[in-house]
Amino acid sequence: MKILVVGAGIIGALSALQLRRSGHAVTLIERDEPGMQCSYGNGGALSPDFCVPFALPGMMKRIPRWFADPNGPLFVDWRHLPKSLPWLFEWLRQSKLDKVWHNARAMRALHGPCIDLYESMLGEKAAGLIERGGSVYVWKTPKAGPTETLSRTIRETMGVQVVPLQGRQVQEIDPNLHPSYCNGLLFPNNGHTVNPLRLTQTIVDMFVAIGGAVIRDDVQGPVWKDGKVIGVQCSQGSNLAERMVIATGIRGKTFAAQLGDHVLLQAERGYHVMLPDPGVRPALKISNRDHMFGLAPMENGVRIGGTVEISDPDAPMRPERARSLLMHARAMYPDLNVEGAEFWMGSRPSTPDCLPIIGPSARAPNVLYAFGHGHSGVMASPMTAQLVTALINDAAPPVDPTPYRPDRF
Ligand SMILES: Cc1cc2nc3c(=O)[nH]c(=O)nc-3n(C[C@H](O)[C@H](O)[C@H](O)COP(=O)(O)OP(=O)(O)OC[C@H]3O[C@@H](n4cnc5c(N)ncnc54)[C@H](O)[C@@H]3O)c2cc1C
Repeated sequence: MKILVVGAGIIGALSALQLRRSGHAVTLIERDEPGMQCSYGNGGALSPDFCVPFALPGMMKRIPRWFADPNGPLFVDWRHLPKSLPWLFEWLRQSKLDKVWHNARAMRALHGPCIDLYESMLGEKAAGLIERGGSVYVWKTPKAGPTETLSRTIRETMGVQVVPLQGRQVQEIDPNLHPSYCNGLLFPNNGHTVNPLRLTQTIVDMFVAIGGAVIRDDVQGPVWKDGKVIGVQCSQGSNLAERMVIATGIRGKTFAAQLGDHVLLQAERGYHVMLPDPGVRPALKISNRDHMFGLAPMENGVRIGGTVEISDPDAPMRPERARSLLMHARAMYPDLNVEGAEFWMGSRPSTPDCLPIIGPSARAPNVLYAFGHGHSGVMASPMTAQLVTALINDAAPPVDPTPYRPDRF
């Protein structure tokens, strides 16, 4: 079949590669350079263990404290609040226990095999790009409370391997970390990519090498004929195809609305600070759970990334959010060299239940959505690409697609 994949972030790129591999004539349409939007600046975590949704019972008790702290992990742009309310209400609804377990299982299905799948999909190109070696959560004080207890139960039930760390055990894992961080959890089966942009670009190169086509253009909407979508209208003309995959990240909502599909998608804007010559490096991917951000040792320096900002994706960035990350990181690694620090902001395409939107449009079943991967698009991408390919080929899906269906809200 002739297939158009719109959006060359990590989701579109890997889906295009897998579709091409299964024999289709695939064209990837991207308005920017491939991989330069959200897939550029993320923390690169590949965490098979990531199966605890953010909406949990008891979470509301933590949120006021985060709001009160100008350097805290959560910021809401009040001007944007009216537009965000339906999403925020649904987020609250998703914190009910039965929904939490449902979402946790669906997260585990997507993320569990991510490293194995990347290695098999990338073959020899995975070497030097995908690193195993684990990741670690650290705290200054042990966190007790309902959300931590539930998180532990979920991980145990899902069979996630976790090693608790106390006191000097934390510094044995990462000798450069300040000794005040004396509680931790080691996830030995996690990993990360050392360069998220190179990961997407490598996949696009592999796609082109096997006959995939890439067009640089801005998709403006569907082309209809006789009640059927037969292609997409771009700024430089129309492109026709039998099937279309919409993998436009946070912009997915626009195309869905043009087809009359209602999806709940909110920009959870996040920031990173890239330190090209950090002096000290974390020994492995590390998450500070007191302030909810992470540091990743990357091939071009150390990346400090995190924070959630509920705002308009097109609003100007707030550099003070990135400066807060830097401040917290220096408390963990006092010898960090911050010279040449670069700030970046990107919009996580987030849904209230922490699950992506993967499946056909209700009005145009030949259009498949693959966006809304929120905090975990890099780790969810291989399974998403497999699922997209199976749905297009009408083959047995690798995981139950029901939890990700576009009309679930
Ligand atoms: C600070 C931060 C840290 C993160 N850390 C991690 C992490 O450690 N691990 C992890 O798994 N995830 C992480 N994420 C999330 C991850 O980055 C995203 O889930 C993922 O990049 C989404 O990929 P995507 O391909 O859907 O979107 P994008 O990368 O945004 O790609 C969408 C593409 O569609 C194109 N596009 C949009 N509209 C059009 C149009 N009309 N016409 C043509 N092209 C169009 C865009 O230009 C873009 O290239 C993090 C995110 C942030 C912000």
